[in-house]
This record gives sequence, C-alpha cells and structure tokens, in this order.
Amino acid sequence: MAPRMSATAKTSARPSPGSELEVLRRYLYERGLKMTTQRDRILEVFLQTSGHVTAEQLYERMKQVDPGIGFTTVYRTLRVLCECGLAQERNFGHGPARYEHAFSRRHHDHLVCVKCGGIIEFENDAIEQIQRQVAETHKFTLLDHRHELYGHCEACRRT
Ligand SMILES: [Zn+2]
Ligand SMILES: [Zn+2]
Repeated sequence: MAPRMSATAKTSARPSPGSELEVLRRYLYERGLKMTTQRDRILEVFLQTSGHVTAEQLYERMKQVDPGIGFTTVYRTLRVLCECGLAQERNFGHGPARYEHAFSRRHHDHLVCVKCGGIIEFENDAIEQIQRQVAETHKFTLLDHRHELYGHCEACRRT
C-alpha cells in the first residue's frame, strides 16, 4: 500500500460525502498532504464563524480551542481552505484580508462601511446582467468579478 493510502486510512470518523471535511480531505489527499487534527479543527472553527473574518480573528478563536496553535498554522490552513474552494479571500479597502465561507454559497457582492467596517452582502440580478453585457460588448470572457461599494452604513450616517 502506498504511504498516502495509509495516511488516509488513519483518519478517524468518515466524513459524509459532499461535506466540507470531505472536500478538504480529498484536496489534501490528492496533493499528498497530511490531514492533521489541527487542520481539522481550524476548518471546524472557521465553519462556526459567519460573515467575514480576518486570519487574526480566526487565530484568536482557535487559541480558545487549542492554546498551543501558531498563527502561521492558522494562516496557512486558511490558504488551503481558499485553494480547495471552502473559503474565499476578500480584500475590502485597506484593512487586512478577510475570509468568508465559499462552499455551496451563492454569488454575492458587498457594501462596505468605511466608518465602522461593517459589511453587508447583496445580490442584484440587474447588476449581474449588465456586467455580462459589458463583457460581451468588449468580446471579453467573464470568469469572475468582485463588486464592492464603499460608503457609510445606516447607523454611521446618523452620527
Ligand atoms: Zn456580482
Ligand atoms: Zn460576503
């Protein structure tokens, strides 16, 4: 048996097919990388977050579960989660990169408050349609897009 096979056989509970854990395990297996308890836990804690977390925020949460964990491990695992499609990195303005769930999530865009840093998600079919038309007009094959609107949120407008 190949060493990679035995590494997979060692993993404890079988993740349900199509689950986030299964996606991560398959990705690591295909690249000959080990599934570690720490990576497992980081995924678990990341999935408990909602919205848009920074690597630092995830690290703070991870320390409560696993005090011995290093920031680099959290950061590298976040990169892996992005590569296998479980997380998406977002860059809003000047702040640090943020990460949101990407697994079986619908496409959406963002409104970013430059005062409080609040982030509102939106979906707008008309905007999506117009973007496709713009690409078509320029004979451009659209692969992806990011649409961010910056301003003041409702609460910040009042102050
Ligand atoms: Zn969009
Ligand atoms: Zn989002």
